[in-house]
Amino acid sequence: MDAVTEARGLIMDMDGVLWRGADSLPGVAELFEALRRRSIPFLLVTNNASASPANVQRKLRTMGAEIETHEVLGSSDATVAWLRNRMPPPAPVYAIGEQALLEALSLAGYDLHQRSDGVSAVVVGIDRQVDWSKLTEASLAIRAGAIFVGTNADPSFPMERGLAPGNGAILAAIQSATGIDPVVIGKPEPYLFTHALQRLGTNPEVTIMLGDRLETDILGGQRAGLATALVLTGVTSRDDLQHASIQPDWIFDDLPHFLEAFNEAEP
Ligand SMILES: [Mg+2]
Repeated sequence: MDAVTEARGLIMDMDGVLWRGADSLPGVAELFEALRRRSIPFLLVTNNASASPANVQRKLRTMGAEIETHEVLGSSDATVAWLRNRMPPPAPVYAIGEQALLEALSLAGYDLHQRSDGVSAVVVGIDRQVDWSKLTEASLAIRAGAIFVGTNADPSFPMERGLAPGNGAILAAIQSATGIDPVVIGKPEPYLFTHALQRLGTNPEVTIMLGDRLETDILGGQRAGLATALVLTGVTSRDDLQHASIQPDWIFDDLPHFLEAFNEAEP
């Protein structure tokens, strides 16, 4: 793709692109207006397995943007979609995670067990109440042959006070205890992107991944064959870019600059 204006679909990260923590970034309402006006299908994606589509919809409404819940794809729903192909419901599952992941699994018809006995899969997403007994159940099930799936492997989880352990740290504990590597669904692994493209119905060459982080959004987008655009309102800075081996197709200071390029073709 030579120019951003040629995009026929858009996959977007949220934190660091549309907002930072609770604060909206400039250009959010205008971005969705432009997408609707030009009938460009889009999908909001996140590695955060504790984010539900309904929460994202509510948050964007406070920022003046209206979206449908099917326009959000979190790593919880992507993990359930992967699991459906591999092991259809009502397979017995042991899950570590918060409400959004547990609900996605049980809505899909999986039989959620409280203990490791007899489960076919262990699904692990961020769980801010994780403890030794949950890690034990997960490890026992995996050692007994259950498949080990992680929603995402982000090592850290941003909080107001700094970086807390992310789901990658929980996966690492189970990996260390079992010697078995998880299948990871979220960015930069390919499944979230291939599933997102399927939902959008667009080809990767005409679809842009817009994100703020080189090692997840941009690397993952490139691996899946998408064009990539980076905004500098989140994790990656101009300074990081100078020393990085991963380089996006386009770099924008912020969303309004992306929009300017995106809208250029309009009369
Ligand atoms: Mg981000």
